[in-house]
Amino acid sequence: MDNKNYYDILGVKKDATDDEIKKAYRTLAKKYHPDLNPGDASAAEKLKQINEAYEVLGDKQKRANYDNYGSADGPQFNGAGGFGGFSSGDFGGFGGFEDILSNVFGGGFGGFGGGRRKASAAQPGRDIEVRVDLSFVEAAFGATKTINVTRNETCEACHGTGAKNGSDVETCPNCHGTGVVQNVQRTMFGQMVQETTCPNCHGTGKSIKNKCTACSGAGVVRKSRSININIPGGINDGQILTLRGQGEAGRNGGSAGDMLVVIKVAPHKMLKREGYDVYVDVPISFTESLLGTRVNIPGINETLVLTVPELTQTGTVIMLKGKGTKILNKNAYGDLYAKVIVEMPKALSKDEKQIVEALDKSINKNNYTKRKQFQDKI
Ligand SMILES: [Zn+2]
Ligand SMILES: [Zn+2]
Repeated sequence: MDNKNYYDILGVKKDATDDEIKKAYRTLAKKYHPDLNPGDASAAEKLKQINEAYEVLGDKQKRANYDNYGSADGPQFNGAGGFGGFSSGDFGGFGGFEDILSNVFGGGFGGFGGGRRKASAAQPGRDIEVRVDLSFVEAAFGATKTINVTRNETCEACHGTGAKNGSDVETCPNCHGTGVVQNVQRTMFGQMVQETTCPNCHGTGKSIKNKCTACSGAGVVRKSRSININIPGGINDGQILTLRGQGEAGRNGGSAGDMLVVIKVAPHKMLKREGYDVYVDVPISFTESLLGTRVNIPGINETLVLTVPELTQTGTVIMLKGKGTKILNKNAYGDLYAKVIVEMPKALSKDEKQIVEALDKSINKNNYTKRKQFQDKI
């Protein structure tokens, strides 16, 4: 049958983790959900594809089949259960969709779990994005940062109902609490009933006699807040921390969005970071490379002493175990790699030159393995 690329549909790489797949699905399912795209047939079609892709990639066995056979219709995939409702093209009743959602959203997706009437009124809150700037050391070992956000929060005065008092909430007279109104049309095929969201209550099924003065009936209020965020040690530039439910408040029972914390890390003046390891080039003098030395080198937040043994070749890398950054979510650390670079003197005096010449004569040519092999091969 057709050979859709489920990875492309979800916009994930082929080696994406289960979490990445789940997250991609969650984002897309939110985006194309019919409640947010009323009457948009292309969004419904897109959501159908997204569901189909997640049905396969969200299931270990099915994903393995798909990876092995290149198609969900691979030999071992026939008759996989629980799929019918989506491929039929009838999206009206949602079938198992709510089950999938409640799995993915942990049951916290507010109105979607309820009946259709309530679902059309619930508006999930948007995600908000904040940027946090960290120093190299803060990213390496973790930090608590305070950020200021302005976001919609559920109105405390009315608990999100938008009404002044509980008794101010009445059943909407226009739709009698159903949230939908029906238009009946007579056509050549008979009666056609079309349901649309009630314009009076916008689908909530309720009408409010006296609006809450704190939020003017909106159920949410704009609030500025300082929030402390614990940044785990080992985080790196460009990574995003997701704080569940810390985004904009939802409306009419819709769940809150997430706060996406985008991490920016300032570079270190001497160290380069790769993953949890750090790298530094250490210049030593030509005579130090012969005689050995101890050099002060930069650690992440301390000065370290590097012991260079005598007769160290240029380019030699010395590892200092556990002197890298903290490893994310583990009680362990990366390593520091110091690369020794031998520096020649800029000039030699006459006397110095004589000393080196004497040295050169005294060192046996067999003492230079590479130099000798190179010469012998010619
Ligand atoms: Zn209020
Ligand atoms: Zn109504």
